[in-house]
Formats: sequence, structure tokens, C-alpha cells
Amino acid sequence: MCPHLHLPDKRGVDLLHDPVLNKGTAFTEAERDALGLRGLLPPRVSTQETQVMRVLENVRRKTTDIEKYIYLVSLQDRNENLFYRVVMDNLDEMMPIIYTPTVGQGCQEFGHIFRRPRGLYLSFKDRGRVRKILQNWPFRDVRIVVVTDGERILGLGDLGANGMGIPVGKLSLYTACAGIHPTQCLPVTLDVGTNNETLLKDPLYIGLPERRLRGAAYDELVDEFFTGVQEIFPKACIQLEDFGNTNAFRLLHHYRNRACTFDDDIQGTAGVTLAGLYAALRITGNKLTDQKFLFLGAGEAGIGIGDLIVTGLRAEGMPEAEAKLKCWFVDSKGLVVQSRTDLVEHKRPYAHDHAPVADFLQAVESVAPTAIIGVSGMPRTFTRPVVEAMARLNRRPIIFALSNPTSKSECTAEEAYMWSEGRAVFASGSPFPPVTYKGKTFVSGQGNNAYIFPGVGLGVIASEATRVTDEFFFVAAKTLATLVTEDDLPQGRIYPSLKRIREVSAAIATAVSDIAFRRGLTTMTRPADLPAHIRAQMYEPTYKEG
Ligand code: NAD
Repeated sequence: MCPHLHLPDKRGVDLLHDPVLNKGTAFTEAERDALGLRGLLPPRVSTQETQVMRVLENVRRKTTDIEKYIYLVSLQDRNENLFYRVVMDNLDEMMPIIYTPTVGQGCQEFGHIFRRPRGLYLSFKDRGRVRKILQNWPFRDVRIVVVTDGERILGLGDLGANGMGIPVGKLSLYTACAGIHPTQCLPVTLDVGTNNETLLKDPLYIGLPERRLRGAAYDELVDEFFTGVQEIFPKACIQLEDFGNTNAFRLLHHYRNRACTFDDDIQGTAGVTLAGLYAALRITGNKLTDQKFLFLGAGEAGIGIGDLIVTGLRAEGMPEAEAKLKCWFVDSKGLVVQSRTDLVEHKRPYAHDHAPVADFLQAVESVAPTAIIGVSGMPRTFTRPVVEAMARLNRRPIIFALSNPTSKSECTAEEAYMWSEGRAVFASGSPFPPVTYKGKTFVSGQGNNAYIFPGVGLGVIASEATRVTDEFFFVAAKTLATLVTEDDLPQGRIYPSLKRIREVSAAIATAVSDIAFRRGLTTMTRPADLPAHIRAQMYEPTYKEG
């Protein structure tokens, strides 16, 4: 029996229909006899390598990314080990299919391409019985729960219950990038309705066709969910994902000291961006304390990054008030300054004493930043005059255009390099191909959260941490930055190759669990060899005999 399963041993057709146990044509002769499989499979026994060849042939013959996505999701529902073997060995090719950008289209069309359910749905009709529903989940040793209410799916807005594609995709990355066992992962969608008119009118929409629940009833459902998870899966960490920005900040603030939880859009994004900044400083030869950051966008991503930069500056001995003065924000109404009366709670700590400025270019001229960070979701906003101003103000301007998907990017890699005459240190949210400018080839960085959250999650699991603190993301960022090699830097690469992702995640997990032990955030005894303890937990999608 599988140690993670709460199911009896299976045989025959039941076994072939269980994605966790199924090996398809790779069941051996002996297994076919012992498990009642003889005749239910074609007679030739395959190896996993042959099965991988077949899968790759099938994926590559699909002519659209959404068809590839549908095929891979179906494979995951049929044979998880094979799915992960394919994804892990071909991460550069598969990640954009099982996660952003294709997963976005998968969510938009979720009700139309729906085949089999995956994960757990809790609707507003389930208030009062959430605990019972959580018990329907077949696995008991759940360690990571990714939960969304579908209100802000990537940059695509309110997709209601269709948002389930995101927790499913993110958890696939936990397994592929950090080796967290698939049965320890639980995707959850809170179906609290949707205000998306198209979905409300679509007969194939899978969620309840009602408007969004707000106020006390919403909070009660979320609270029942948190307390239910803590009771049924006491070792689980809850990752908040793609909530609308008001709820995201509110829920994180409310639960971060009551449960083992974090918000990837706020904290994971901050981790990967700070790592990119540390690596960028290795190129520019400057210190974090000498920087001034100007953000375009003051939402979940922007404020999360600002807060983690402040954590980084404080770690270098700078007082908090001084550290906050290093971070400036422009939102849809202009520079965030003290005299503004329209600022929501999360922007106020960064409202500095400065005259109002309506325009981003003016803000660049007035604040004179060393780095600009685009997290506005507004494309083409790092214009030529903006990049030229940055290049005039700085020998090596840092320019991060993080808005996703590619069509929302504040500028392209090519524009950043050309307009700065090859001096920009550039990163983006979605990948750009290498750019050759005046004979030199630049490989820009992709600030992909998948560099951070799988390793943090693995560290939390391995140390049985009871809380997730900002310090976890700070050490994750520092660790990630040190894994960028001296060969990467001259090309402008500020993140390691995705091919090294499991090594990256293991290193981050080691750093995170070290902090958990040192800060007393766990009751577990510290293993003598932490890196070995972490490596031993990492799942490999090879078939087990028998
Ligand atoms: P959000 O809705 O919480 O925040 C968006 C912010 O942009 C708000 O402060 C809003 O006022 C501001 N804004 C809107 N229009 C503007 C304009 N014309 N000028 C200036 N500011 C404007 O969203 P979020 O979660 O912070 O995400 C923002 C963007 O960052 C998205 O495109 C998302 O894809 C991207 N993002 C990237 C990564 C990554 O690269 N790793 C991670 C998370 C988010």
C-alpha cells in the first residue's frame, strides 16, 4: 500500500484507473500476474523511457498550446509518475504549458475543456460542513494546500471557480520543482460566485452562477476553511493564490500569525524579485543600501516587493523609516505621496513627503531611482523617454518589467537594451528571447515565482514549521541570488537556468528550514544533516516494483 494513501490496495481495472498507482504498459510480467492485470494491457511491457517518448510525440504533434495543456492534464489524471517524469525532464518546454501563460487560457476555457475533476471545491453553500468535505479528500498526509477564490487569476481578472487551474498548476510545480509528493498536495477552490458576466451566462461554466459573496458570510467560509484544514491536515501549509487585492492583503494579515500560511502573489513575487535585485547588484557593483526603487503599480506584487526590500535593508542595519524611504510608488493616480487622501491601507507606509506627481516619467526625473520595477499590468508604460532617463541617471540602470503575460509587459527586453544602449540590467515576468545589440547577446532574466515557492514549501514541510515569516522569503532570495554563476552575469542573466531548479529548491529549503529551527518555529528536532534530510524527502517519479 502506498504510504501516502488512505486507500486499500488496488487490483485490475481499479488499479489502471488510479493515477497515483497506475504504470500503464510499464506494469511488469510479475505485476500483471499478481495484480490481475493480464489481458487488460497490450502484451509488450514498456519502460518508462519508452512511455516518455510516446508522450513527447503526442504533445509535440498538437498544434496549439491549449491542446497540449489538455493532453498533459489528462496524462496527469491517468498516470502521475509518467506526467512528472515528462514535466521534470522537459521543464523549459512544459512549464509554459502547465503554468503561465497557457494555464491562463486553460482557466478561461475551463468549463469547456473540463474532463475530470481534480482538487477540492468548497462553495458558499457548504458553510457549516467544510470540515466534513475536507474529510472526503482521499489522502491524509497533506502538507501543501493551494487555495484560490478565483477573483484575480493571473492578469485575467475574475474567473470564479474556473480558477481551479491555478492551484492545480501551482501544485504540479511544487512536485516538479521541489519534489513534494503529489499526494501531499491539495488544490482547493472556494467557489464564492463570480462577477464575470460572460461566465454567469455560460451554460458550461462549472461554478455556481451567482454573484460574489462578500462581507461576513465570505469571512466565515474562509475561517471555516482555515480551521478545518488545521484540524484535518494539521501539518499543512496553506498558500493563498490569486485572491483579489483587498482580500489578499486582509487574509494574509489576519492569518499569518494564526496559521502556517503565505500569499505567493505578495511574498513569493517579492522573494524572486529581491533575488533578481541582489544578482543585478553583482553586475552593477553596488549595494542594496545605495539603491532607490521606483515602482509602477502599488498592488499585491509591488507592496510585497517593497516590504521585502525593507526587510533586506533592515538586515543590513538600516532603520525601518529610512528603508521605507528607499521605495517609491506610482499607482494609477500618480506618485504615492503623503498629501493624497485616496490611499488604501497597504500603500500608506510608502506615502512620502513629496509634491504630487501625476506622470511616471516626471516621477523618474524627480525621484531619480536606480531601479524601476513595473508591476502595474499596464503594457508599454516603460517608454523610450523613461528608459533613456534611467540610462542618463545611472551607469547601469536596473529595469524590471514584471507584468504578465508578455502582452502586458511594461517594455520588451529589446527596448530596454536598445534604449539604454546596452546598459540596462533587465528582467521580466514572462520570458523574452535573447537580444543581440551592437554584437553583444543579452539573456534577460525571468522573475518566475517558481524559483521561490517550491523551495520555501519544501523547507516548511521538512522542518514542520508552524508559521511562514518574511524572513523565509528573505533567505530564499539571498540563496537564489548566490546560485547565479559568474558565467551567467556577463550575459545579463540574473536567475539560474531552470534546468537547475531542483538543486535551487533544495538549497532554498535548507536555508528556510534552518531559519525555522533557529527561530523556534517548529517543535521538530533538528536533523543532524539538514541538506541530506531535505534531499531524502524529494519525490522521484520513477516506478516502484510490486
Ligand atoms: P494588483 O491589482 O494588486 O496591483 C496593480 C497595481 O497597478 C495597483 O496598485 C494599480 O493602482 C496599479 N495600476 C493600474 N493601472 C496603472 C497605471 N496606468 N499606472 C500606474 N499604476 C497602475 O495586481 P498585482 O498582483 O500586484 O499584479 C500586477 C502585475 O504584476 C500583473 O500584471 C502580474 O501579472 C504581475 N506579477 C508578476 C509576477 C512575476 O513576474 N513573478 C508576480 C506577480 C505579479
